[in-house]
Amino acid sequence: MTDVFGRLVGQSAAVDALRHHARQPVHAYLVLGPAGSDVHDALVTFAAALQCPAHGCGACAACRRVLEGADPDVHWAERAGLAWRVDEIREAERVARRRPLGVGYQIVVLEDVELAVAGASPSAPALLKSLEEPPTRTVFLLGASELPPGLDTVVSRCVLVRLVAPTDADIEERLRAEGVPADAARAAANAALGSLERARVLAGDPALAARLAWWRAVPDRLGGTPAVASALAREAGERLDEAMAPLERSLVESATREREEAGQFGGRATTRREFEAHARREQRRFRVDELTLGLSTMTAVYRERLARDLEASRDGDARADHRVIGTLRSIDALLEAQRRLTTTLDEGLLLHDLLFALSDF
Ligand SMILES: [Zn+2]
Repeated sequence: MTDVFGRLVGQSAAVDALRHHARQPVHAYLVLGPAGSDVHDALVTFAAALQCPAHGCGACAACRRVLEGADPDVHWAERAGLAWRVDEIREAERVARRRPLGVGYQIVVLEDVELAVAGASPSAPALLKSLEEPPTRTVFLLGASELPPGLDTVVSRCVLVRLVAPTDADIEERLRAEGVPADAARAAANAALGSLERARVLAGDPALAARLAWWRAVPDRLGGTPAVASALAREAGERLDEAMAPLERSLVESATREREEAGQFGGRATTRREFEAHARREQRRFRVDELTLGLSTMTAVYRERLARDLEASRDGDARADHRVIGTLRSIDALLEAQRRLTTTLDEGLLLHDLLFALSDF
């Protein structure tokens, strides 16, 4: 349990496969995992197991170097824009042709390879070419959160390892193992929407409980006037702003840590531009997740109401019948808002529309 694979929470099938392959690797792997499943951690872990003489003990110098991002034979390919560019893939291929400096493998890691089929000139053909007959001591580790059809041929050249979204219990257990107190671990896991990364941020957020209580209270506060709905939409925006503070702290901390490690090990630190692009992506994802959590918290309140009114209605309460219809409409409006959330960039408009739909003026 204490070997390097202990880091991968709730991924026993993937861990079995990776453990097996660490002993006798083929030349390319593709780790596929839904958002929150920590593809990045799986790639780091597997890279460590490949370099470790004991196939992933988690404690030796080889393991530690990889986990700290300090193994010169483990190369993380870098992407400047949203899509992978052909020249970036070629650079990764150039590194892949190098002989490893150490006794292990030359490992080239490319994350988000689904972005090799995006953009004006997709780089998937270049990626496919670099996977053809790499040197014997080279291993490609690719990561993706989805597999668009344009990636079929790339996938066919890799061993595919699938991650699953971890359960709340898995996440709670992991946080406990990292030293988070029991109550905070449970609350963070329940609000993490299956993402260990998000759970880690929430575990350090003392305002989480107050924020959830705010979302839970919204249905009772609605139903007055348009002014009330407007005020609630504004307050919701403020709650979302508050939720971002711990994430921003953790982004700055990890950038600082990375800079220190790069200095210490003579590696290459992230540039300011890379950090800002990364931070923007993380912030956007975190904010969408936070709003999803708020909407699902409200939905739970309406579902509780529905259960109560259905029971009252069975007991012959005619007013409860009427309320059931209103509550079902509210749940529909919330589900519609959650669907819109994946495509809209205008969170303010979404909240405004939703809260007006939920108000029965
Ligand atoms: Zn080791």
